[in-house]
Amino acid sequence: MNSRIILASLIIFFHATYGMQSSDLTLINFSPLITRDQIAERVVSLGRKIDAIYCKDSQTPLVILTVMKGAMIFAADLIRAIQMPNTELQFIQASSYGHNGTQAGQLTIRGVDQLTIENKHVLIVDDIFDTGVTISKIKAQILEKNPASIKSLVLLRKLGKSKVKETPDFFGFEIPDKFVIGYGLDYKECYRGLPSIWAKD
Ligand code: 5GP
Ligand code: MG
Repeated sequence: MNSRIILASLIIFFHATYGMQSSDLTLINFSPLITRDQIAERVVSLGRKIDAIYCKDSQTPLVILTVMKGAMIFAADLIRAIQMPNTELQFIQASSYGHNGTQAGQLTIRGVDQLTIENKHVLIVDDIFDTGVTISKIKAQILEKNPASIKSLVLLRKLGKSKVKETPDFFGFEIPDKFVIGYGLDYKECYRGLPSIWAKD
């Protein structure tokens, strides 16, 4: 009886902390890396940091430029942690992994033409900075649209693979060079809904 209660409590704790698909994930060699509580705490502190920086020019709109699809969940939480009233949400789509799984392929960026960012502060929000090529290419295209400023914020900064000079202006967590999923990040388009982040062993 006691051992059943202990087992049930462990399962409830595991699901509450890491999400419902956690038992499948250990079978395909993924391990927990960052919990939902750690993410939530960091998102609040990033929101405060952004407020402190951009409130100095609160007359100019701030655009949270979300890089779909990976940054969707992060941006949805982040914008609720930002107090600045004239904060806008706009989107672009970047894809390099697609259905190939864990190998990066050809980078395509869509939606830049539809942006209305002239004379606004732009904060590019992406899920992860790996080689840095995505952020660097997005920045170059955004610059041509004459924003008031451009900065970048990534939830995760992978260490050791950068191919570009610039670094993200802000990041949530530095992580080792492992393939990660969850909280917006996919493996073959799945697992984006996991509330925590998992890394391939
Ligand atoms: P970068 O251009 O910096 O090499 O890669 C950035 C993009 O590649 C990210 O926006 C993300 O879509 C994808 N990416 C890089 N590393 C990972 C990873 O470990 N897991 C997943 N799911 N996507 C990744
Ligand atoms: Mg991405």
